[in-house]
Amino acid sequence: MRIKFWGVRGSIPVPGPDTLDVGGNTSCVEVRCGDVLVVLDGGTGLRLLGLDLLGKMPVEAHIFFSHVHWDHIHGFPFFAPAFLPGNTFYLYGGVNVNHTLERTLAGQMENPSFPVCLTDLAARMHFHDLTEGQTITVCEGQDTVSIKNARGNHPNGVYAYRVDHQQHSVVYCTDTEHYDVVDAQLADLCKDADLLIYDAMYLPEEYAGEVGGRPKTGWGHSTYEHGIRLARDANVKQLVLFHHDPSHTDAVIADMERRAQALFPRCVAAREGLVIDL
Ligand SMILES: [Zn+2]
Ligand SMILES: [Zn+2]
Repeated sequence: MRIKFWGVRGSIPVPGPDTLDVGGNTSCVEVRCGDVLVVLDGGTGLRLLGLDLLGKMPVEAHIFFSHVHWDHIHGFPFFAPAFLPGNTFYLYGGVNVNHTLERTLAGQMENPSFPVCLTDLAARMHFHDLTEGQTITVCEGQDTVSIKNARGNHPNGVYAYRVDHQQHSVVYCTDTEHYDVVDAQLADLCKDADLLIYDAMYLPEEYAGEVGGRPKTGWGHSTYEHGIRLARDANVKQLVLFHHDPSHTDAVIADMERRAQALFPRCVAAREGLVIDL
């Protein structure tokens, strides 16, 4: 299993001199499981993944959306392989409020916000509305991959995903706010996983409202401390801090990484281009 990070930010892309090391694109993670390609979220990092895939045509991929806030979908209209015939995409997501994933992706491409409609894209697209706790199994040649979801705690809803392939596992758990105790559903999803990619949007002092304005309670995001708590509780081997706040510069994230590593050594902050092999 090979995991590659194409976008690691939350909320909005933040290009510029203060984010050169970590990167400025929003959430998108590629998970290669032998011949099966799983993509987690379609933030602006998806555009870069799309450019990479142009050299590997035809493309077949299974794209799982955690939820449909902008920073998780707004790379999709710029995902070049979706414009090309011969490619096939399976797209999965929850039904948020009263819209399906398909309706929401079509909505962000509607006239006058975007000049090309979802239905004009030449690739084959198959949409799947997930139910909570569902496991999707994908078989391709020798490879069998299972992708299970669990609900997180976030405004408008969110799914975390666990990808299992040949004794290896990665959990993608972004845009979730911890409770006072470890979230039992997420701990169950993460149990004994090799790698946990976790929402570490706020520093503990920001979450508490000691710096940076009001407390962030109820905003639907976590801190590295809570990622570590979940990782320990679920016996996770390795932790990646993800979905960085747009205000966090390279220096802030490097400092957060050092603080986290002092508590949990097998921990890194996600950076664009980071590759982890399991
Ligand atoms: Zn987000
Ligand atoms: Zn969100």
